[in-house]
Amino acid sequence: MDIVYMKKQGGDCVKKYIGILAVMLSLGFLLAACGDNNENGGEDGADGWVENVTILTGGENGVYFPLGVAMAEIMDENVDGVSATGVASGASVVNSNELNDGEAEFALVQNDIAYNAHQGEKMFEEVVDGFSGVFTIYPETIQIVTLADSGIQTVEDLEGKRVAVGDVGSGTEANAKQILEAHDITYDDISAEWMGFGDASTNLQDGNIDAAFVTAGTPTGSIQELAASTDIRIVSISSDKIDQLEEEYPYYTREELDENTYENFDATATTVAVQAMLVVRSDLPEDQVYELTKSIFENTEAMENAHERGKDLTIDTAQNGMSIDLHPGAEKYYNEQ
Ligand code: GLU
Repeated sequence: MDIVYMKKQGGDCVKKYIGILAVMLSLGFLLAACGDNNENGGEDGADGWVENVTILTGGENGVYFPLGVAMAEIMDENVDGVSATGVASGASVVNSNELNDGEAEFALVQNDIAYNAHQGEKMFEEVVDGFSGVFTIYPETIQIVTLADSGIQTVEDLEGKRVAVGDVGSGTEANAKQILEAHDITYDDISAEWMGFGDASTNLQDGNIDAAFVTAGTPTGSIQELAASTDIRIVSISSDKIDQLEEEYPYYTREELDENTYENFDATATTVAVQAMLVVRSDLPEDQVYELTKSIFENTEAMENAHERGKDLTIDTAQNGMSIDLHPGAEKYYNEQ
């Protein structure tokens, strides 16, 4: 457009424009040539390395956020030429879609949701498989939180109640729907409220909602905050419903919470859990994913400091519950161990 416009203004202007273009092009070549002298040969993007790496996490009051931010810091500090940032998001379902659309490089997602995305089933209308596995980390427990005096003892008691079902586009919401459905309860039978974990705790405390679904590693910050000042209950799922859920959804596993999980929680709860995993856009170069994966395993203390569940990351368990194919860069790292 610019050239066409300038041609109308006269030949001199065109020449000037071409001259500027030539200078810009040579500068570009010069920069690319300098870049090739880098140790990694790809940090400038010449080998397809992505310099600005974004890790999608979840809401700020969950576990993905502190761990994702810690992983970004590890990559940033230990891999030359990479600038990494952990950002808050609506979690698993939106993270899967955004990675597939090339909006970010890494994401934390639930293993059940990653599987559904690759199959193009359940909450995904089409196959969303532009991302691959790096590692699984820790169990994310499906916690149905209520105040101890709410009178809600079973999942069936949620009928007719105001229930927070997680953020829009979260894995939590998918789990809430599946667990309710297993008890013949639909969103028509409850007042469903879409909100993140922090808002759910505040609203439980203020009496604006009666219960909240939280799929996250324990202890979950938002529940810890609530339990610091109020007696809470985590509603158990009955054994036969757990069997039914495990049969229908292969990534659910039985999980027990003991009385030490939270303050003012003097009970145990039986529920189900899925696995948190780190995934990466499949089109990232093998050597870049290899280097980034390696940097995390060699610097796990930063993750341990960010959240207790960060301690669960080990090479031996990194593929437990892995529901999609590994990225070749991650696979190379495991093969070398
Ligand atoms: N697993 C949750 C989800 O995808 C997010 C958990 C977290 O933020 O720690 O909905």
